[in-house]
Amino acid sequence: MLKINEIYHSIQGESTSAGKPCVFVRLTYCNLRCTYCDTEYAFFDGKDMSIQQVINEVEKYRCKLVEITGGEPLVQMEECLELVNRLCDLGYEVMIETGGSLPIKDIDYRVKIIMDLKCPSSGMETKNLYENIQYLKSTDELKFVIGNREDYDWAVDIVKKYNLLTKCIILFSVVFGILEPLELVNWILEDKLDVRFQLQMHKYIWHPETKGV
Ligand code: SF4
Repeated sequence: MLKINEIYHSIQGESTSAGKPCVFVRLTYCNLRCTYCDTEYAFFDGKDMSIQQVINEVEKYRCKLVEITGGEPLVQMEECLELVNRLCDLGYEVMIETGGSLPIKDIDYRVKIIMDLKCPSSGMETKNLYENIQYLKSTDELKFVIGNREDYDWAVDIVKKYNLLTKCIILFSVVFGILEPLELVNWILEDKLDVRFQLQMHKYIWHPETKGV
């Protein structure tokens, strides 16, 4: 059984798949408490569903891209890994979004991993599991959510220290409503940093606090 907060059909708002139609499966629970969290409603609320029930729900949307998210989906590790494995077997293009504090090494190689490394202003920096970096594939994406200049400098140091630009796609985004996108863009350009800036597109299309989009 998995505890599921919501399953819905929208467009992918982030990552290199931004703009594509996508089915989102949001799993309940998170082991972190980021200062800027926008999905606190997923910390505890949800209903128990079997893996087959989740798949049946996903299939209704007839959409080939599926993102498993949370909360932190890897809190329900065993069932989550089985779910993504079965979705891949069914031919879905599967992405998993994780906060980067739990091990990713057993995730099916067919899954695109979007992993955060938590910056200082999240309050969760000490929870980053740096061992995860070795398991990222070149097609995976590593995301830094940046709230101020200290976060930016920290992220740049981490990118250099772990040689991340040679490992996978690097995403820099702002903490919505806290750091102006233009500021981050200017820093990236000044430093000639070869990272991908991104906006959370869904927060511009719908009201930023709209759920299920
Ligand atoms: S990892 Fe994600 S869901 Fe968990 S507290 Fe941080 S922002 Fe919220």
